Amino acid sequence: MKSVLSWGRYPHLPQEAHVVTWRDGIRAAWADASREHGTTLAFGNGRSYGDSCLAASGHVVQTLPLDRLIAADWQTGVLRAEPGVTLEQILDVAIPRGWMLPVTPGTKYATLGGAIANDVHGKNHHVRGTFGRHVRRFALARSDGTQFECAPDEQPEYFAATIGGLGLTGLILWAEIQLMPIRSSMIDMTSIRFANLDEFFSLSEQLDPLHEYSVAWVDCQSRGSALGRGIFMVGDHANDGPLEVTRRKKRTVPFTLPIPVFNRVTLRAFNELYYQKQQRGEVSTQVSYDTYFYPLDSLLEWNRIYGRAGFQQYQCVVPPNTARDATRAILDAIAASGTGSFLAVLKRCGDVRSPGLLSFPREGTSLALDFPQRDALNTRLFTQLDTIVREAGGRIYPAKDAHMPGADFRGAYPQWQQLEALRDPALLSRFWERTTRT
Ligand SMILES: Cc1cc2nc3c(=O)[nH]c(=O)nc-3n(C[C@H](O)[C@H](O)[C@H](O)COP(=O)(O)OP(=O)(O)OC[C@H]3O[C@@H](n4cnc5c(N)ncnc54)[C@H](O)[C@@H]3O)c2cc1C
Repeated sequence: MKSVLSWGRYPHLPQEAHVVTWRDGIRAAWADASREHGTTLAFGNGRSYGDSCLAASGHVVQTLPLDRLIAADWQTGVLRAEPGVTLEQILDVAIPRGWMLPVTPGTKYATLGGAIANDVHGKNHHVRGTFGRHVRRFALARSDGTQFECAPDEQPEYFAATIGGLGLTGLILWAEIQLMPIRSSMIDMTSIRFANLDEFFSLSEQLDPLHEYSVAWVDCQSRGSALGRGIFMVGDHANDGPLEVTRRKKRTVPFTLPIPVFNRVTLRAFNELYYQKQQRGEVSTQVSYDTYFYPLDSLLEWNRIYGRAGFQQYQCVVPPNTARDATRAILDAIAASGTGSFLAVLKRCGDVRSPGLLSFPREGTSLALDFPQRDALNTRLFTQLDTIVREAGGRIYPAKDAHMPGADFRGAYPQWQQLEALRDPALLSRFWERTTRT
């Protein structure tokens, strides 16, 4: 049987994947996966970093091979597909016809089912909110043998609980989404170097309302007056140009490195290099959607560079009134710890409400950063960061998490009990077990 892990490869809990190839085979795969331990969990393409895509039982039902497009109306941009269809597959058919995903995360290898279950967000959260806002309907299979359709006005409780519902309400059999029209597959992008965190906040205030996409890279090792320096990137779909699917040459990290490439010295060097790479204060250019949205996807299996122990991502969002102080305190603690990676992403989330019950994004500032796994991470640095986030009234993203204390989760997501009430008793993730039962 195939064995799968989450993207961070931490916690190291290989899952036995019960693969489902046809929609009418889902019951058999589900029964098979939950036979011994009573519970299982759907697994898409394992692009969640921590343990929210891992079954408490160690047996998952993998819906990745359910990868058929069912119907599309290219006049209206409405597309119906099975849950294992990846975002890349959708882009491949949609872009040449002038349609784009209205919201995309930083990887095109996430599946439709996974994008709904984590209610993913992208660089345009301030304009279009989360993925769930563009989901029209879907079908859900439950362990009692029932199957039903959910939409905002049909089984509305299940519709809301499944969007951002961490795969706990049932198995999604298909989903229908609304795509966004585009006139070109190229992105007009402007990168602006900023000297510290205050400059980030003023750029964000000034430029976010003017652009579809906005995100910043931050040097997580800079301190003092340069704390939070980085590169601010805004983008918009070009008004005309080709409607072309990008085929970039892909490389693969061939094996898991025995030790991670990041240490205090390489980390400082990487960050410095990236910051200095942009010589001029402001640079405007045109790039393909693939280069703009998915820079990491060109290096397949890049998670192997973190070594055998794997890595964790810390992603939090803090509300506007505490954002400056909390972000400063977080970056300061990270720089002092001398750990992290050179991929620190800072962005302002907007106030567009998600239909999802447990959706992560909320208005405020979000910071995401990878850390090579070490035992001291959970006991020292993350404990410090958790305190800052908690006191600032913020929260951590379950899709990236492998450490959040149960009390923090329950405090920051008070609707968790509503999800628990609708949870299918035969579905249980390691994340849910860890955060709701401790
Ligand atoms: C490089 C990279 C960049 C990323 N950038 C972002 C970002 O910008 N924004 C963001 O929000 N996220 C981001 N992510 C996280 C990623 O988009 C999410 O974790 C996404 O949910 C992964 O989808 P997946 O198909 O791999 O699902 P998995 O990780 O396999 O599973 C995720 C959840 O979906 C559920 N699920 C999967 N299929 C089904 C189904 N058929 N029925 C019911 N439930 C199902 C699972 O039970 C699980 O709870 C990034 C990840 C990577 C690796």
